[in-house]
Amino acid sequence: MKKILEVNDLSVSFSTYGDDVKAVRGVSFEVNEKETLAIVGESGSGKSVTAQSLMRLIPMPPGKFDGGSIMFNGEDITQKSDKQMEDIRGKDISMIFQDPMTSLNPTMTVGKQIAEGLIKHQNMTKKEAHMRGVELLTLVGIPNPDARINQYPHEYSGGMRQRAMIAIALACNPKMLIADEPTTALDVTIQAQILDLMRDLQEQTGTAIILITHDLGVVANAAHRVAVMYGGKIVETGNVDEIFYNPKHPYTWGLLGSMPKIDGGDDELQAIPGSPPDLADPPKGCPFAARCPYAMEVCKNHMPEYTELSDTQKTACWLLDERAPKVEPPESAKV
Ligand code: SF4
Ligand code: MG
Repeated sequence: MKKILEVNDLSVSFSTYGDDVKAVRGVSFEVNEKETLAIVGESGSGKSVTAQSLMRLIPMPPGKFDGGSIMFNGEDITQKSDKQMEDIRGKDISMIFQDPMTSLNPTMTVGKQIAEGLIKHQNMTKKEAHMRGVELLTLVGIPNPDARINQYPHEYSGGMRQRAMIAIALACNPKMLIADEPTTALDVTIQAQILDLMRDLQEQTGTAIILITHDLGVVANAAHRVAVMYGGKIVETGNVDEIFYNPKHPYTWGLLGSMPKIDGGDDELQAIPGSPPDLADPPKGCPFAARCPYAMEVCKNHMPEYTELSDTQKTACWLLDERAPKVEPPESAKV
């Protein structure tokens, strides 16, 4: 499998009102061709900041890179000029967002918005770009694409707008697609259709996908691997089976416990009590210590190292230290 992206020890902070908020604190992960990596966590975990950093969409200042690298195609994104990033964005890396209305231009037809990238990055003529636009709308399952291509976003339904945004994002065959909560605003049926569509398109084009979500339910069907973020760090990473059937981090247990079960069981959903740490003054030790039912003295002052549980799973938790008491995941974390 060809590696598309390698993020090494990335740290990103924001300086606002005299505070220095350490939003991303030493995050490392990689993504391969044809692979979907889900980055999962609550809001404030650093997952969206991580995603936006890959596209260099963080306004700097107030944001800044504090260290690390983002190797894409063998080159470090953190070192690129704004001008170089303009060439990469939309061509090699595309992004889709939760709300298509904020990223679609309401004053331009969908066809013009698809054509823009094709004309800019692939030197197509207007006519070629129009024809490719019809193909793309067909590909993402928009009915009657010859007519729909000349319509404006407000003439589309919510699900169709999301499909149109995917068509725009895929127009230039990007090597990597970043999807930040792409289905959160949609009803469950359309959500499933959009996730299926992304998977089909990935099989056809080989695009690597980074899926940002707070919802582990979305991950089960859509991702190959998962990175669980909390307090600006990746606390556990593994393939989908490992995260769902052999999770080792208490925060992952909490996320699984707050996920609706497939059998619709009558258990109450367990929201994780408490709130995420203040990253203007991040905890010295484990970021989850203040909310973790298993926290020990060591957790408060010392950040746990990763324990490698398999070739694909690593977890940063003191419970995996041989001196720690043996703790089983709670029933609520069983899927
Ligand atoms: Fe809980 Fe300690 Fe593990 Fe953190 S390191 S998740 S506080 S047991
Ligand atoms: Mg977000």
